[in-house]
This record gives sequence, structure tokens and C-alpha cells, in this order.
Amino acid sequence: MDTIQTVNRLCECCMEEHAVQHVVIHENTQFRRVSVSYDAHYFYCDRADELYADEEMISRNDIAMKNEYRKTCGLLTADEIIGIREKYKISQQDLCRLLGWGDKTITRYEGHQVQDKAHDDILRKIDHDPKWFLDLLENAQAILPERAYCKYQKIARERYEHLQELYLKQAILSRYARYMDRPELSGYRELNLNIVKDIIRYFANAKNMMYLYKVKLMKLLWYSDALSFKRFGHSITGLVYQALPMGAVPIGYDTIIEFSGVPYEEHEYDNGTAYEFLPTSNKEYTSLSTEDMDILETIIACFGTSKKNDIVEAMHEEEAYKKTAPKDIILFQHAKNLSIT
Ligand SMILES: [Zn+2]
Repeated sequence: MDTIQTVNRLCECCMEEHAVQHVVIHENTQFRRVSVSYDAHYFYCDRADELYADEEMISRNDIAMKNEYRKTCGLLTADEIIGIREKYKISQQDLCRLLGWGDKTITRYEGHQVQDKAHDDILRKIDHDPKWFLDLLENAQAILPERAYCKYQKIARERYEHLQELYLKQAILSRYARYMDRPELSGYRELNLNIVKDIIRYFANAKNMMYLYKVKLMKLLWYSDALSFKRFGHSITGLVYQALPMGAVPIGYDTIIEFSGVPYEEHEYDNGTAYEFLPTSNKEYTSLSTEDMDILETIIACFGTSKKNDIVEAMHEEEAYKKTAPKDIILFQHAKNLSIT
């Protein structure tokens, strides 16, 4: 029995005013045939040597016991349910409407009623899957107040985009994990995805940039890194490039494009679909240094108006490309003889 504090008050046990201790006792009990141990709060009357609890303590002890039961059974605790709801800033009642549950269900789950496994799974899915939340929200649009609907949609979209970005980032980093011990392959730079993002946007927003399709963009990235290596002995981005038939392509390029968040337009041609990257409203490049931007400007001056075939041809003439076997990693040391200065 630990004493938290002692306060002079009317003791409901002996009905006299005296110093009453507020104590915590570790209790063991059975709930739904599961044994649970938790901290329970009581008042202690030392005159009668008796413990008693007021209404608030009884309620608090009950929730503490049920939270322990929830933890033992692998269910969300009341606080975790509140936490999920707060991530979407949605009211108890609106969350019930969204899920098609009775009006008071969430209020009860955030208190004394232990949720069943099926409802627990649904709440966890809401937590991990903002896309699903958005789908449910759309279906419930008619029964939600318009302002609340718009607010929830905005928050859920932001959460979705944020998670999406995290997944993509993880996917890229896991592909680069194997190169961590080979700094010469990434031009002695650790992969910096913020820089990659800024460079792709820089190219998409450049005034003298035309025909910025996927193949060209990949070459522009390599030329930027190779020129930086030639000038300063290190790359800018830390990307690792592979020699493919049309020239250098960074490992994980599809995910990198997706991650960059730069919008593109799809064009259908006889030999497939081409993705043309478009300017963005954001024209800040906080992760690029002046030296980096000088390099990008040099690359734009060389290839800004080049068509895909021109830059592919130029790449095929580079020593770095000629000396690399198909599909091998292109070594940065070849960049010393890059055609651009
Ligand atoms: Zn007393």
C-alpha cells in the first residue's frame, strides 16, 4: 500500500474529519476468466483501519482493471482508442456514424465497456489505413454535417499522403541498404531523398526545360551527380546508378519518381506511355547548396531542350557508360572524364 497524499477531510468511513490517506494498492482479480493485476486507488481511514472508495475512484479503478484486461487480451486500451480518434480529430458520435455503430458505442469503448475483437480490428484498421477511413467517410457523407465532413476529409487526406510518403521512403531506403558499405557506388554521399526531391522539382520548374520525360529525367540526375563528382569528388544525391540500354538509371527509379511528388501528364504513343513532368507551385529548394544549383544550371544549359534520343546518345558516348557492362552499377570514378565541365 503506497500513500499518494494525506488530506484533512470528512472521512466517509468514520464520519469524522481527520487526515485521510489516498493510497494505491496493487490488486489481482478475475475478469471474464482472465486474471488481471492493476493499481487501484482508495481512501484509507487509519482510525477504523479500513479502505473505501468514492464514486470517481470506483470508476477509475474499473477502467484501470479493464485496460489491463484489454492489454492481456491484445485489445486496444481506452486511451489508445481515444488516441486513434484524435488522429482524425473526429467526435465520438461521428466516428460511430462513419462505422455504422450505435451512437454511444465509442463513448462506451473509451470507458467501461470492453470492445469485442471484431470492433477492435476495425479501430486498428482505421488507425493504419487513412485510405479506408476516406472511403468510409465518403459513404457517410450524407449523414454527416458538411463542415465536419470537410474537416475530417482534409485531415485524413493529409494523413494518407504522409503515410504514403513514409512507405515510399522506406521502400527506397531498403533497396539502398545493400550499398551502405560501398560509398564509392553512391559517389561518397549518403542517399538524401530531400535533395533528390528538390532536384527533380528544380528540373521540372526550370524555364529552359522541354520534353522532361522519365528517361530524360533519369539521365539528368546522373549527369548532375557525375558533374558534381568531377568538380568536387562527391555526388549530390547519393543515388546509385545502373547501366541500362538507354543509359544511367538510379536504383528504385519508379519509387523515386512516385516519392518526388512532382505531378506528371501521361501521353500515349505507339510504343507505350510517356510521363511528362510538370512545373510545381513550390519553387523553394532548401536542401540544395549554391554549388549544387550551379551544377543543375550547367546540366540544364547542356540538355534542357534536348529530346530523349539526344541525351540517350550523349550518354552512350560517355566513358562511364562505355566502360560499364550492361546492368552493372556505373562507377563514379569514370565521371572524371565526363564530357561536361
Ligand atoms: Zn475515518
